[in-house]
Amino acid sequence: MSDRRLSVGAIESYLRCPRRYEFAHVQELHSDEADSPSTDRVDLLRRAICDGLRTGETDPDSLESAVIERLSTLWSEYDERFHSRAQREFERRVLDATARAYVDAVGAAHASGLAKLRNTGRAGELVGPDLPLSSTVSVSTSSSAPSDADDSLRSVALESAVDYVYGEGSSLVGVRFVPTIDSLGLLRYRSSWEGDVETLFADHFDPDDSTFEPGPVGALLETAVVLDGLRELCDRLGLEGRTCRYLLIPLADRSQNSVNWVSETVETTVEGIDLTDIFIDHHTFGMTHEHRNGTIENRLATVVEQLVSGSFDPSRQWDQIESESCPDCGYAVCCPEYLSQEVRFDG
Ligand code: SF4
Repeated sequence: MSDRRLSVGAIESYLRCPRRYEFAHVQELHSDEADSPSTDRVDLLRRAICDGLRTGETDPDSLESAVIERLSTLWSEYDERFHSRAQREFERRVLDATARAYVDAVGAAHASGLAKLRNTGRAGELVGPDLPLSSTVSVSTSSSAPSDADDSLRSVALESAVDYVYGEGSSLVGVRFVPTIDSLGLLRYRSSWEGDVETLFADHFDPDDSTFEPGPVGALLETAVVLDGLRELCDRLGLEGRTCRYLLIPLADRSQNSVNWVSETVETTVEGIDLTDIFIDHHTFGMTHEHRNGTIENRLATVVEQLVSGSFDPSRQWDQIESESCPDCGYAVCCPEYLSQEVRFDG
């Protein structure tokens, strides 16, 4: 039984600013930051695709019809204020085009991989949205009673989620839909851990380096948590021996849209990014034959340890936090560090 639960979103929040994490997840203060409309629309698409996959259809046309039909029902119940009827119809066309592009690019293949997994006869939910995964880390804590050995080690359950899983060869792949992959930064253009990615990860945590990359670093920590959660899912489903992979699919990348305003049609493409190869370090893989990265997993334990110990002082990376995290922070009005910077006198 774990002593504490933490979501991967909370860990990423801590990377952006420890004080922000404290406000949101320790003091549980409400922030004015609202989900963007595109996040809500992606949620509709996510639910429609998951319901489509749940039908068991593997033929591309049948799967597309199932997804579009479900999307139509969800859209009729969807309440968002648009400037005009034309804008509402346009956004609906974008969603339809994205659903079709998903089925065409990967959806039908994933549905077949899902069917193969179901045919193994393993009991267990394979389609979400938000299929919960859990991973556990043990962290040491400073105990007020040093003689009590139990107090020096704490078990923390790290919670993540994927929208569905499917089988591909000897792998179990977890898929999560996201609005965009912009926050991945350098990871979008690299295919392996060794080199730039390894350097960026080390530099982010180096107190003598100004690198501040909570987006890609958070994604790598999240990948560690998700892959461990997928391994645990494999054990539960009796699929031991499978390697695990983690795939992100963006569903609101407007740069992929092509709009014909005369015929009022929208076309788009959907391209996922598999974070697994960027995550694996070959030394750990060689030792364990699992998709793991010792450096990232050790750092994850350290970050969780700091977080659990109540270390929320943002001063270590203050310059970077002030320029990168404060501008869009919903807690600025009550944050002592931010306010003290705002009201200081020159000279
Ligand atoms: S205003 Fe800045 S320092 Fe304060 S909680 Fe937000 S991000 Fe952190």
